Amino acid sequence: MAKKVLVLGEARDGALRNVSFEAIAAGKTVAEGGEVVGVLLGDAVSALGEELIQYGADRVVVVEDEKLTQYTSDAYSQAMMAVIESENPEGIVFGHTALGKDLSPKIASKLGTGLISDVTSVEVAGGNVVFTRPIYSGKAFEKKIVVDGIVFASIRPNNIQPLEKDASRTGEVSSVSADIKDLRTIIKEVVRKASEGVDLSEAKVVIAGGRGVKSEEGFEPLKELAGVLGGAIGASRGACDADYCDYSLQIGQTGKVVTPDLYIACGISGAIQHLAGMSNSKVIVAINKDPEANIFNVADYGIVGDLFEVVPMLTEEFKKL
Ligand code: FAD
Repeated sequence: MAKKVLVLGEARDGALRNVSFEAIAAGKTVAEGGEVVGVLLGDAVSALGEELIQYGADRVVVVEDEKLTQYTSDAYSQAMMAVIESENPEGIVFGHTALGKDLSPKIASKLGTGLISDVTSVEVAGGNVVFTRPIYSGKAFEKKIVVDGIVFASIRPNNIQPLEKDASRTGEVSSVSADIKDLRTIIKEVVRKASEGVDLSEAKVVIAGGRGVKSEEGFEPLKELAGVLGGAIGASRGACDADYCDYSLQIGQTGKVVTPDLYIACGISGAIQHLAGMSNSKVIVAINKDPEANIFNVADYGIVGDLFEVVPMLTEEFKKL
C-alpha cells in the first residue's frame, strides 16, 4: 500500500551525512510508491533540502530554530512532533546513529507506536515491507513486518545503498513552525575532541588495532596504512582498556558498529563482543600471529604473522597502486 513516509536527514558541520541518503532509499521502499518527505531540523538547514531531493526525496520539510543548533532530545522531539502532526505520515525512517538511537524511541513512545531499530535491509516481499535486523550480537538475523499503526524504523549506517544522485530532480522545500519550549537541557558549548582523519562510523575502510599493537605507538603503522587507504582507525576494547587509544575508537557490542567495505583487524583475537561491531563488514582481513585466533573464523582473508611486519608491507604495496 502506497504510504507517505517521513525521512529524517542528519547534518553535521553544514553537510548532510551519508546515512541521510541511505534513509531516503529505505524510505522509498517503505513508501511502496507513495511520497517520501525529507525532514531537516536545525538552525539553518533549508539549503540542504535540495540535496535530499536529488537523492530521492519528493519534497522536504524543515524546522529552523536556534534551539535546534545542537541536538537535545527535548528540542528535537518537539520539532519532529510538529512535523509529524502537520504531515500525518504512515511511515517514518531515521538513521540508527547516536542521534537516531536517542530520538527514535522517544518519538515512538509519544506516538504510542512500535519501532524496528537497527535495520540492515528493507524489501517488499509477499505484499509486506519486510525489515531485517541483527539479533544476539549479530549471530542471527530476524525479519519483521508492521501489522498495525505507523511503520517506524531506524536503519544502520552503511548497509542500505543510497539511490544515485540526480541533479535534475526538483521539489518543494517548505517550513513548519514548532513551539519549542520548556527545555530541560541547553547546550552552552561543544568542546570537540581533536579527531584525526575519517569519521569511523561512516568510513568505507577501517583499520582496527587490538591488544596486539602493544602500545599507543603501536598504532602508528596502522595510521600510515589508514592514510594510504583513506580509512579510519578503530580498536578493540582490549586496546582501549590498555590505554593504547581513546574509547571513542572502540568497535563492538559496547562500542561503535561499523560496516565498511574493508575491515582490517590487526592483533585482535575476535571475541564475540568485538565481532558484534564489525562482522557485517563487506570484506574482512585479519592479521594475527596466532593461527587459532577466532577472528579468522569471520575473515575473508587471513594473514598469520606479526602485524609490525605485515602492516608496513601492505602500506608499501598499496602506495604503489
Ligand atoms: P586479546 O584478546 O588479548 O587479543 C590480542 C590478539 O593479538 C591475540 O589474538 C594475539 O594473538 C594477537 N597478537 C599479539 N601480538 C601480535 C602481533 N605482534 N601481531 C599480530 N597479532 C598479535 N571487546 C570489544 O572489542 N568491543 C566491545 O564492544 C566489547 N564489549 C564487551 C562487553 C562486555 C560485557 C564484555 C564482558 C566484554 C567486551 N569486550 C569488548 C571485550 C572482549 O571480550 C575482549 O576482551 C576484547 O575484544 C579483546 O581485545 P583484543 O582482541 O584486542 O585482545
